[in-house]
Amino acid sequence: MSAKIISGKEVSAQVKERVKAEADIFTAKTGIVPGLAVIIVGEDPASQIYVRNKHKSCAEMGFKSFQYALPETTSESELLELIDKLNNDKDVHGILVQMPLPKGINENAVINAINPKKDVDAFHPENVGHIMIGDYSFLPGTPAGVMELLASENIDISGKKCVVIGRSNIVGKPMAMLLLHKHGTVTICHSRTKDLPSITREADILVAAIGKLGFVTADMVKEGAVVIDVGINRTPEGKVRGDVDYEAVAGKAGYITPVPGGVGPMTIAMLMQNTLTAAKLSIE
Ligand code: NDP
Repeated sequence: MSAKIISGKEVSAQVKERVKAEADIFTAKTGIVPGLAVIIVGEDPASQIYVRNKHKSCAEMGFKSFQYALPETTSESELLELIDKLNNDKDVHGILVQMPLPKGINENAVINAINPKKDVDAFHPENVGHIMIGDYSFLPGTPAGVMELLASENIDISGKKCVVIGRSNIVGKPMAMLLLHKHGTVTICHSRTKDLPSITREADILVAAIGKLGFVTADMVKEGAVVIDVGINRTPEGKVRGDVDYEAVAGKAGYITPVPGGVGPMTIAMLMQNTLTAAKLSIE
C-alpha cells in the first residue's frame, strides 16, 4: 500500500486564501488592518528563517508586520518593556516572541507578559486554560494546523486511537487536547514511555513531535494509519526531514505528511488566522 500524501503546501494556501478573503471584508467594514509584531532575540539561523517567512506571509495577507530584531545581549527587562509597549499599541493586534530565547531570559515571564488577547501563539496560561476547557479564541499554530490537515481529508477522529509522541507545551500537549476535543481516544508518549512501538502500532492516527530524525520506523506503524510528521530535523547533508522514516512508512500508512511541505506551512497559515482573530478581538 502507498500512503496518500497530505500536502501542507496546498492546504495552507487554501487557509491563507480564506483568511485573506475574511480579512479584506473585516478591513472594508472597520478600517482596521490586522497587524502582527514579531520579536526575535539573537541570531539563531532557524529562527531567522521562521521570522522571515512570517513577515512574507503577512505581506501576502495585506497585514501590517512589525519586526523587532534584538541583540543576543538584550536583558529580560528590556524585552518585557518592548512587550508592554506593543500591548498598548493599537496598530499591533498580535505579538509573537520567537522561541528559543537566549539563556538568562525566562521564557515563561515573557509569555506571561503578552496581553492574552494579542497572544497569537496561544502560549499564555490564560489561553492554555481556555483551550483545555474547549472555549478559546486562539489555538497554537502547529496543532491547529494538524487539525486542518486532518479535516482537509475528512479524516474522522471520533472514537479513533490517537497517539501523540511528544509532550511539549507548544506541540504535544495541545495536540492531544485538540484530538480529545474531537473525541479521539488519546495516548501521549514521551521519552519515559515503556515499549513505545507497542503503543504506536495501535494508533489509527499517529502524530510525531519529537525532534529526532527518522525516529518513527515502519515497524512502529499500523497498516493504513494516518501519520502526521511535525518534526523538523537536518540530515547530515543539511536537508530538512521529519521525525518519520518517510519512504518506509509511506509504504505502509494510509495517509502521511511530508517534511518539508507538511505541517510547517500550516503553522504559519494558522498564525495568519490568529492575527485576524486578534484584530477582531481588539474591537470587542
Ligand atoms: P521538545 O524538544 O520540546 O519536545 C520533544 C518531545 O519528544 C518531548 O516530550 C520528549 O519527551 C519527546 N521525546 C524525545 N525523545 C524521545 C524518545 N526517544 N521517545 C519518545 N519521546 C521522546 O520539541 P517540540 O515539541 O518543540 O518540537 C518537536 C519537533 O517538532 C521538533 O523537531 C521541532 O523542530 C518541530 N516543530 C515543528 C513545528 C512546525 O511548524 N512544523 C513547530 C514546532 C516544532 P520528554 O518530555 O520526556 O523529554
